[in-house]
Amino acid sequence: MGMLLRLILLCAVAWIVFRLLQRALGLPAPGQGTAPSEPAPATMRRCAWCSVHTPESESTQSRGHFFCCEAHRDAFLRAPKK
Ligand SMILES: [Zn+2]
Repeated sequence: MGMLLRLILLCAVAWIVFRLLQRALGLPAPGQGTAPSEPAPATMRRCAWCSVHTPESESTQSRGHFFCCEAHRDAFLRAPKK
């Protein structure tokens, strides 16, 4: 019985050493081959009216221009064209 216990302990130690070596060599653990990609940083858009930079998701777009808010969009669209 003591012999079997020693064998199991040896296997456990060998497995731990193997895992440590694997980590030391920088190999990815099985099942973790591809890390989830980080979310892309928000694209900043410049308000065509006041030049304030706003994330694209929070900005208002109209006629190819970006605006920080709808009020500036309306002001820009109402302003006389140069
Ligand atoms: Zn603005």
